[in-house]
Amino acid sequence: MTTRQLQAIAREHGTPVVIVDHDVIRRNYAAFRRHLPRVQAYYAVKANPAPEIVQTLYKAGASFDVASFPEFMLVHENIRHLPAKERQDFIWDKIVYANPIKPRETLEALNQYKPLVTYDNAEELKKIRKYAPSAGLALRLRVPNTGSMVELSSKFGCDPGEAAELIERAFRTDLVVEAVSFHVGSQCTNFDNFVQALNMAAAVMQEARSRGHEINILDIGGGFPAAYNPHVPPFGELAKRINAEIRRLFPAKIEILAEPGRFFVATAATCVARVIGKAKRDGKTCYYIDDSVYHTFSGMIFDHCLYPLKAFKRGRNEICSVFGQTCDGLDTLSQSEELPNLEIDDLVYAENIGAYSNASSTWFNGFPPAKVVHVNL
Ligand SMILES: *Cc1c(COP(=O)(O)O)cnc(C)c1O
Repeated sequence: MTTRQLQAIAREHGTPVVIVDHDVIRRNYAAFRRHLPRVQAYYAVKANPAPEIVQTLYKAGASFDVASFPEFMLVHENIRHLPAKERQDFIWDKIVYANPIKPRETLEALNQYKPLVTYDNAEELKKIRKYAPSAGLALRLRVPNTGSMVELSSKFGCDPGEAAELIERAFRTDLVVEAVSFHVGSQCTNFDNFVQALNMAAAVMQEARSRGHEINILDIGGGFPAAYNPHVPPFGELAKRINAEIRRLFPAKIEILAEPGRFFVATAATCVARVIGKAKRDGKTCYYIDDSVYHTFSGMIFDHCLYPLKAFKRGRNEICSVFGQTCDGLDTLSQSEELPNLEIDDLVYAENIGAYSNASSTWFNGFPPAKVVHVNL
């Protein structure tokens, strides 16, 4: 998107506005498939659950990873055009329910769809056995998340030492473990995490095989880094290492899937906001904009992500502070932004804000989430 296009959209729709470019989503999807040809991509819907994005990725050939029953139904509703008799195959090929902890009601509601669900402990197994006996299982392993922007290993995953027993236990109760899965942590730029996780998964699958249980699906999770800035190591390099390990460690017949969220959508969106206030405090210029960390910039809190602000206006940059529209002091976008001198009603924008951004927007202070405009649908 050119700055002219962004400004035109902001003029037409008002601010705050999030502009999602579906050409970029398709390009990201294509890059993923090109670099990892053996891997089917299950888009992690939680990164950005806009139905338009689900449809674009579905048309491009993606499957989906969901974190809740509403997300499951969101995907299900958006593939309505498929003939009914293809639906069941569709579930297996198209949706993995990858939240290892599931409320009883969710399992009951999911059971009729014969879903593929993850688990990482014996209590969860008991629940699945009782409330969703027709589900297939994916065992989630705990793997190193070292250096990832968002770490998940303290919350999810069984230790490799427990894996064999958890697999045995599932088969003993007539459930079937279809897959082994892991997540290396989100925005993983330490590629050794993937290498270690692949080696751990291979060992677990080997051990299961030696006990008579063939597990034929490997789910390598999410964590593929989005190119937020030039310092992020290139995806192609990561893919090379993953491909080499897969060739070395797994039989050719193994089906491999991944759950990229951020990688598909982060770089596809830009938000445009408007300066609604300006003050001088301690000699520094402070701008107040009509978006906030409770809204599109929520990723600053929940996702540990920074979104540099840019102005459309030219001029000599000076250090300033930028605050969100709410009355909370936490709602600070930056204490050291570099922007030219701006006036009330001038527009600013932040790029690469498509993942974990408006997905976790709230209505705090009564301000609604930013409007979302989809382009190149
Ligand atoms: C959040 C999540 C993903 C997506 O992670 P990204 O880092 O956005 O790729 C994939 N799988 C699971 C189980 C998740 O919880």
